[in-house]
Amino acid sequence: MIRINDILDQIHTYMPEADTSLVEKAYVYSAKVHAGQMRLSGEPYLSHPLAVAYILAQQKLDLSSITAGLLHDAVEDTLSTTEEIGEMFGQDVARIVDGVTKISQINFQSKIQKQAENIRKMILAMSKDIRVLLVKLADRLHNMRTLEYQKERKRIKIARETLDIYAPLSSRLGIDWIKRELEDLAFSFLYPEEYQDLKKEVETRLGARKAYVEEVKEIISKKMAEYSLSCRVLGRPKHLYSIFRKMRRQNVSLDEIYDLIAFRIILRTVTECYEALGIVHSLWTPVPGRFKDYISLPKANMYQSLHTTVIGPYGERMEIQIRTEDMDKVATEGIAAHWLYKEGKILKKEQRRQFEWLKRLMEWQKELEDPREFLESVRMDLFPDEVYVLTPSGEIKEFPMGATPIDFAYSIHTEVGHHCVGAKVNGKMVPLKYQLQNGDVVEIITSKHHKPSRDWLKIARTSRARARIRQWIKTEEREKSLSLGKDLCLREFKKHRLDFSSFLKEDAEEVARILSFKTVDDMLIAAGYGKISPSQIVRRYVKLKHVEDDEEIIGQEEVQAPRGRKPQGEGIQIQGHDDIMIHLAKCCTPVPGDEVIGYITRGRGVTIHREDCPNVASLEPDRQIEVAWTTDDGVNYPVMLNVVTADEKGMLAAVSNAISAAEANILEAKVYTSPDNSAHFTFVAEVRDSSHLKKVISGIKRVSGVMKVARQASV
Ligand code: MN
Repeated sequence: MIRINDILDQIHTYMPEADTSLVEKAYVYSAKVHAGQMRLSGEPYLSHPLAVAYILAQQKLDLSSITAGLLHDAVEDTLSTTEEIGEMFGQDVARIVDGVTKISQINFQSKIQKQAENIRKMILAMSKDIRVLLVKLADRLHNMRTLEYQKERKRIKIARETLDIYAPLSSRLGIDWIKRELEDLAFSFLYPEEYQDLKKEVETRLGARKAYVEEVKEIISKKMAEYSLSCRVLGRPKHLYSIFRKMRRQNVSLDEIYDLIAFRIILRTVTECYEALGIVHSLWTPVPGRFKDYISLPKANMYQSLHTTVIGPYGERMEIQIRTEDMDKVATEGIAAHWLYKEGKILKKEQRRQFEWLKRLMEWQKELEDPREFLESVRMDLFPDEVYVLTPSGEIKEFPMGATPIDFAYSIHTEVGHHCVGAKVNGKMVPLKYQLQNGDVVEIITSKHHKPSRDWLKIARTSRARARIRQWIKTEEREKSLSLGKDLCLREFKKHRLDFSSFLKEDAEEVARILSFKTVDDMLIAAGYGKISPSQIVRRYVKLKHVEDDEEIIGQEEVQAPRGRKPQGEGIQIQGHDDIMIHLAKCCTPVPGDEVIGYITRGRGVTIHREDCPNVASLEPDRQIEVAWTTDDGVNYPVMLNVVTADEKGMLAAVSNAISAAEANILEAKVYTSPDNSAHFTFVAEVRDSSHLKKVISGIKRVSGVMKVARQASV
């Protein structure tokens, strides 16, 4: 069992002057809260956090990480809280403990292998601080070392999870030794017989090959010396799981696997690495297709090395890795080693700055722009623009950052999306605009009668959800327009004493074709939208039937329905209609912010009036539709203002200045004098919306001599 002094000693090997009081305090605290708890091994529970903290100290991590290692199970398994830990050990430690606790609480349940990559990504995304993951890996490593005490079912589950999730994660961070140990441990629990057999056999063979390994190392060293390259040569057996995997994958026996040993040549500079490669290739024949240059193209975890396989002195394949000392450190110790190396020069001068890398590591999570390319690539890898959430049954779903329960609902099924009324996240009700967070467990609440709304387009992030919502709106609006179009046509036909239902039965298709619509419904929908007028349909019908006694209709000039819409209608939204033609009424010149209504004209789309426009009263009520301003479209709207002033010199200039000062454009200005010693001006000015208009009006009112300002209601 690891003792606290082992940890403190280890810390002092790389931080001789470190103040370890926080670590000691955490030890006392952890001993107190875990008191009485036992591991399945029969040891006191405290042995586990101690072992985890020691693994972290072995990796030369900072004091916060080691403290968090001692406390990592406190929140999950005892009565202590993140708040309490924050107060006692600082926010830095509390955040790490909190992150580890959250990862531990995810229940992956089934389908692990299928979802492994998503789970890995989710854990990475949840580990906003890289130290969370380092503590979690140390935790898993110690649990794997003591896995034999677990019941068989749990043993298999944990080993499987380790192989699928945590070993690849340690590989992604480049911590090779943890990866190898996790894999071999998982292997021994998942395939105990195969593991024992292979272990025995490999040991026998390696024993027999000791002389061979020494011989190869000797040949390499000698040859390098000939070219005056100083180097270290290592011959290391590959770990058992990698041999096992190779046998499985290539379906071969151990006899057919020659490269049980990987040789490694470690040199001083990159140039020397390439030189050494040339020497190796001249010494032994390289196997084609096996050379990999990770020096010029490092892996995402910053691993750098040259890899080659050659036919060795006895005709067998040998794998050889060639790299510098620094690269070797990164390869074996991972991300931490990289930063130690980066700060290496400073380190010698100033021991205290040894942990600069960790500070940097935390800083680059805040800084969005870091000039160093590899940082960016690691950052991207660690913090993807995605969130990973779970269904109540533990299935993982991936969404773009900012996704909401609506996206989640549509990802399950279109119908679930359409009828979604709310969601529970981690058991609590949330609004539909809630942004999903990594690790959230999301449950959608539906109601049969609920329908999508156009507002959903604003909160849906995925293209799938947006497409489904649009599709629904389109169908819905087609239905509405169809019934409106039918209604309008029916009335128009009645007006001309024509039979609408026999028209539908007999001639509607022909008329639709003439008016270049694909179907009768399309034509009626267009009438509902106001894209064509019902009277156009009637005229076509009359022409077709040669109804002679209705000259008046035929003689009318045809109004061509204008297509496309004018920019002035950009700021208006009509009940989910996307492509409708819009005019702003000239009589009342509405601007955004005004209460407005729409009027379906005959053949000229929809005209927008102010609600208080005197003309509205005379509009047919069933052609009126609800409209709304969209927000902030950046378009200016003309508005007409009547200004009455005293008949003095310079009034026009003064009022014009006031309008300009309120940041409005003047399009037109007219002046009339009146016999009662007042001047009447009419201005057409452009404003953004009603509050801008208010500003303009109050600006004019402040001009001395102005007696009255009014917005013109009707021309
Ligand atoms: Mn633990």
